[in-house]
Amino acid sequence: MKRIGLLGGMSWESSIEYERIINTAVRERLGGAHSADLLVRSYDFAAIEELQAAGAWDELGTLLAADALRLQDAGAELLLICTNTMHLLAQEVAAAIDIPLLHIGDVTADAVHAAGLDTVALLGTRFTMEMGFYRGRLSAAGITALIPDEPDRTLVHDIIYGELVRGVISAKSRMEYQRIIETLLSRGAQGVIAGCTEIELLVRPEDLDCPLFPTTRLHALAAVEAALA
Ligand code: GLU
Repeated sequence: MKRIGLLGGMSWESSIEYERIINTAVRERLGGAHSADLLVRSYDFAAIEELQAAGAWDELGTLLAADALRLQDAGAELLLICTNTMHLLAQEVAAAIDIPLLHIGDVTADAVHAAGLDTVALLGTRFTMEMGFYRGRLSAAGITALIPDEPDRTLVHDIIYGELVRGVISAKSRMEYQRIIETLLSRGAQGVIAGCTEIELLVRPEDLDCPLFPTTRLHALAAVEAALA
């Protein structure tokens, strides 16, 4: 079993889900008292959020690349960035290490293909929805990602930073997400990518009438496949 490095804490509300899903899947696969072999770097998200809001992507890239290298030096054989947004810096991180970086966008694209879909709604932070690094990756895989118009786009972003990363799960926000997803379905989406690792804490498959692609779960399970391959 390969040792998996996790760049997490972005936020910890979702990275503990990574740990839970990965450990559970390893136990199911190997049985007995087995669990995953993990190295976790978990950030203080307040500092990360401040740098994101300031657009200090170079500084964030340097930070993540240095920590990825530390995880590699500590024995990680495979690396995950446990957030969709910070895949904006995937190239910088991958360039700093020799071990594979399992890209969350590729894993998600594989799941969309496996479901036989080619047009999906994408909900995530403003950075993920607007900046192109994520939709571009999906588009290169033949998938069209539809994002909400304003003011719903801002609402989706604000619920992530104002509630989900702070551990607040509200029925009102779930209803807002359901409404926004319905609008995107009426525009041609066939399913929805929970393109922020906390969204699947708010919106579950049973809350929707369409396929949901939960990026934390998909990414974590793909890591287990790679670690046990
Ligand atoms: N976890 C979120 C994501 O998947 C947002 C927090 C962050 O900006 O990293 O995009």
